[in-house]
Amino acid sequence: PDANAAVLSTIRDVPGFPDPGITFKDITPLLADPVAFAAAVAAMAEPFAGRTDKVAGIEARGFLFGVSLAARLGLGFVPLRKAGKLPGRTLAESYALEYGEATLEVHQDAFQPTDRVLVVDDILATGGTAAAAVRLVRRTGASVAGFTALLALDLLPEWPGLADVTTHFVLPRS
Ligand code: 5GP
Repeated sequence: PDANAAVLSTIRDVPGFPDPGITFKDITPLLADPVAFAAAVAAMAEPFAGRTDKVAGIEARGFLFGVSLAARLGLGFVPLRKAGKLPGRTLAESYALEYGEATLEVHQDAFQPTDRVLVVDDILATGGTAAAAVRLVRRTGASVAGFTALLALDLLPEWPGLADVTTHFVLPRS
């Protein structure tokens, strides 16, 4: 709990970014604080130790936490990238944004069918990005061990696309 309070104190609210009326949670001070960052990664990983085979991180902030978490758990890391970045054969999942849509891609051969995959991002807002990531991992034939992040913004009472996914957050909703 004290470690989580230390993590929370490093996350900076930036009013008016990226648009008026939105308050952005800036995680760069957490990245710059090695003690708080290590505590955050440990807390993100904790429920999934021994229950997962690979870590999949969502571009771009999910890479920062995901690679660290994979190293901590002794597991391989797979990037879930924005469209057009991966060189090999890919699968793609699109999802709605407030304006327009976005696409995540993964290499078709990134997982084994027996892999239990932990999906990682920094922050969950509407849950649309995480839900697309879960669909993408499942389409490769692998299963999803869960979704882990620092925190979930208190925008929605539930996330329809994550109803059958174990979700874990280090910090309470804010
Ligand atoms: P969602 O798809 O859940 O609406 O949005 C989550 C995605 O947007 C995540 O990839 C996350 O990195 C990013 N995101 C949304 N709001 C914030 C925020 O306030 N701070 C940070 N760091 N990322 C955010």
